[in-house]
Amino acid sequence: MTTDITRLSASELAASLADGTVSSVEATQAHLDRIAEVDGDLNAFLHVSAEEALATAADVDARRSAGDELGPLAGVPIAIKDVVVTKGLPTTAGSKILEGWIPPYDATLVERIKAAGLPILGKTNMDEFAMGSSTEHSAYGNTRNPWDLDRIPGGSGGGSAAAVAAFEAPLAIGTDTGGSIRQPGAVTGTVGAKPTYGGVSRYGLIAMASSLDQAGPVTRTVLDAALLHELIGGHDPRDSTSIPEALPRLADAARLGAAGDLKGLRVGVVKELSGEGYQEGVSARFAESLDTLRALGAEVVEVSCPHFTYALDAYYLIMPAEASSNLAKFDGMRFGLRVQPSEGPVTAERVMAATRGTGFGDEVKRRVILGTYALSAGYYDAYYGSAQKVRTLVQRDFAAAFDQADVLVSPTAPTTAFKFGEKLDDPLAMYLNDVATIPANLAGVPGVSVPNGLSDDGLPVGFQILAPAKADDRMYRVGAALEASLEKTWGGPLLAQAPELKTTELTR
Ligand code: GLN
Repeated sequence: MTTDITRLSASELAASLADGTVSSVEATQAHLDRIAEVDGDLNAFLHVSAEEALATAADVDARRSAGDELGPLAGVPIAIKDVVVTKGLPTTAGSKILEGWIPPYDATLVERIKAAGLPILGKTNMDEFAMGSSTEHSAYGNTRNPWDLDRIPGGSGGGSAAAVAAFEAPLAIGTDTGGSIRQPGAVTGTVGAKPTYGGVSRYGLIAMASSLDQAGPVTRTVLDAALLHELIGGHDPRDSTSIPEALPRLADAARLGAAGDLKGLRVGVVKELSGEGYQEGVSARFAESLDTLRALGAEVVEVSCPHFTYALDAYYLIMPAEASSNLAKFDGMRFGLRVQPSEGPVTAERVMAATRGTGFGDEVKRRVILGTYALSAGYYDAYYGSAQKVRTLVQRDFAAAFDQADVLVSPTAPTTAFKFGEKLDDPLAMYLNDVATIPANLAGVPGVSVPNGLSDDGLPVGFQILAPAKADDRMYRVGAALEASLEKTWGGPLLAQAPELKTTELTR
């Protein structure tokens, strides 16, 4: 093979498919081969759907040769986080409690992916029910970071990020409740975008915290993220929180940004999301990226969002409260696992207790307990009620900041990828990974993480761009401008600097 198909970005691959240089069957097979070659070490996939993917690919190839009008990403393979339900394909949300469950329907975003002719390679690993920042809370083993196999790929969507970073898939779907698309993007050198809340249908996502959850693209370029966002986004009557309006023109905004002119754009640096607690190399790359934006004509100003300091605390009350309610449906009666009590009478309640006791991992139990407590009659006002007030204050901070700046920026995560086990016994240290990403979820605004270099430890770092609700086009414009400029200095994509995965030398 002259060019390695798996190294192409999704839009490059789409161009090769359109001009007939490559067929979708070839492209899909190349990615399946890559998965077979490296996933034994990475464990990015929980399920690989080779047969279905090749059948879709063959169908798209036939339609293309028949002269059918096809969408811009037709024939480009994709991986899907295992929290999104897929008809006929196992869906576990990273939990033992859903082991063996085969959904009878497709999520809206999966329907759209299928209708657009993207072969689905499989389902990706994740922290159980999307709770975590390292994918170490998966019931199906760790996913490894392709940059260093002893390190975490971020979480909860570590599987999607690792798959894209390791060239197992050009595109993937993630979900972001507090940062689970953006933080894995930052630590694996990939692009991760969380759309405006309501911009992509949540119908068919296994809910963690319904007022915070949002699905979005995981890719290797900003343009690819915009294209995938356009494909999965837009109004869905089956999700009552879906915005009944057309999306802004996202891919056009990315193309405009890549042309490199940010004249007149005001970039607000959020004072509370930098400085203390951020790794030196993370802060250094952040400062350099601000210079890059200035060189492109942007005006960089500092803004203050004083209540962001309390965002993490509010999140860790609201999220578990909603999760404790959403996870009540896993009762051993309706889905997946059912465990009989080991002794004593078999009542519905005791089966439920045995099932949940066996089926849920420690982090899920911790959050269900925390959420139930925060919602209990005696403590509701003190905890859940106060957290909701803080949420309003965070939203007001955003509104005030967006009066002063068109986009807000920060490092995506305070550190680069850490080693397995480093934060596993310290939930608070784990939660701090999301300190910069959580405010966006509380306010429903969109955000993207764009790779902006390597820290002193040689590991990738991400630059976060936040835009006002329904102005997702802005983050793609700025992200593409930054990416184009940085890639010029690197002489190509950052991922080209990642070490080759030498699969033969490694054992799982
Ligand atoms: N890491 C955060 C948490 O554990 C965010 C998770 C997510 O976005 N799904 O809650």
